[in-house]
Amino acid sequence: MLKLLKEIFRTGEATVKYPFAPMPVCKDFRGKPEHKAEDCIACAACTVACPANAIQMETDTAAGTRTWSINYGRCVFCGRCEESCPTGAIRLSDDFELAVGSKADLTRKAVFTLADCACCGKPFAPAKEVDYVARLLSQSARGAEEADRLRLTASTCPACKRAQDVQQIAGMGIARQMEAGLSKAGKPAKELETTP
Ligand code: SF4
Ligand code: SF4
Repeated sequence: MLKLLKEIFRTGEATVKYPFAPMPVCKDFRGKPEHKAEDCIACAACTVACPANAIQMETDTAAGTRTWSINYGRCVFCGRCEESCPTGAIRLSDDFELAVGSKADLTRKAVFTLADCACCGKPFAPAKEVDYVARLLSQSARGAEEADRLRLTASTCPACKRAQDVQQIAGMGIARQMEAGLSKAGKPAKELETTP
């Protein structure tokens, strides 16, 4: 017995104290993805990137909201969400303790408000995302007027943008037809333009 005790003291601790002490994890450990709703713009990039469909988005235009949710029960800890997030709102943590008492506790949600289209007034995209895009676009503007125009573009829904493009293209087509018609009539269009 004495020999055994001596051997135990000589060997020291051969196990870890977890769960009575924190369990150290290695560098680059892929644990539970942590989502910071305050940094999230509800862009849905992580939803598209997630191979396990653990992250979902639900848009309710009647309520004017988009709900982001993650189901930790489906997560495979691949880290694709972290890689795809433009704002760093979702990051894999060192936390590996996912046990819960109820299945519903595996889900986390965040609700975002939708912005109304500047043209038709219908809700179309999360207000935070529209603001983020507008700020990015206005950074590349060459003046206040262009910045305003880009901000307006970011605040317009895809349907209204398409309608505006069609109108613009149709306008260009009419102008080209008029120019061709005048050229056929005998005078070069440029000359006609300058004729008082
Ligand atoms: S770590 Fe992978 S599986 Fe888990 S939520 Fe992110 S993308 Fe989806
Ligand atoms: S990619 Fe990032 S910002 Fe976009 S919805 Fe996911 S967590 Fe939010």
